[in-house]
Amino acid sequence: METLTVEQIAERIWLSIAERRLRPGMRLKEIELAEVFGVSRARVRQVLAMLERDGLVVIESNKGAVVAKPGVEDAKDIFHIRSAVEQRVLERLTGQLDAAKLVEMFEHVAKERIANNSNNQREIIKLSGGFHVMLAEMAEAEFLCGLMRDLVSRTSLITAAFRDSNKHNCGPDEHEEILLHLKNGDLEAAKKAMADHLEHVESELKLLQDRAPPKSLRDALV
Ligand SMILES: [Zn+2]
Repeated sequence: METLTVEQIAERIWLSIAERRLRPGMRLKEIELAEVFGVSRARVRQVLAMLERDGLVVIESNKGAVVAKPGVEDAKDIFHIRSAVEQRVLERLTGQLDAAKLVEMFEHVAKERIANNSNNQREIIKLSGGFHVMLAEMAEAEFLCGLMRDLVSRTSLITAAFRDSNKHNCGPDEHEEILLHLKNGDLEAAKKAMADHLEHVESELKLLQDRAPPKSLRDALV
């Protein structure tokens, strides 16, 4: 069996977080991960350091690595920034999206539809986030690409933390609508459709401020 690379292991862990099998706050024990993936602990440490840079994992000196628990305000920050970045991606796509690239994008949405119809969660998560990263790639805007990859990963973590069903609304219908506007050269309509899409995704989350826990038993009782 071929040894898994740092990137491959990081992707598997990322997917498990996005699929909500690994939940925020869960411990990621080095020794167990080394066993599961059949690699050295040194490699596991590299993977965890990579996931920490992406904000998916927090490494605590006494506890080791745990899946990050994003706060409500952090989640709102990420959606806020993401929506600005996505608008800019669409602007940068102007004049870049030729017929061949459009075909590729529509093919991607077709794959999303197949995954959706067969309810293949793993593919749905990968492809729906992939759509947004792909738009940035098509724009050939290197800086935005890096940002989008990071933001999509962080959005998956937020979805895992704040969603109470397994339904995914970052889906083919709204993606297709954005593409149709781009195909027609209507940038403003594409931007509006993107804004609505992200708002829809965010609205599915339960981003309610956690009530502060009582400071003492007296506070809880009186
Ligand atoms: Zn989407």
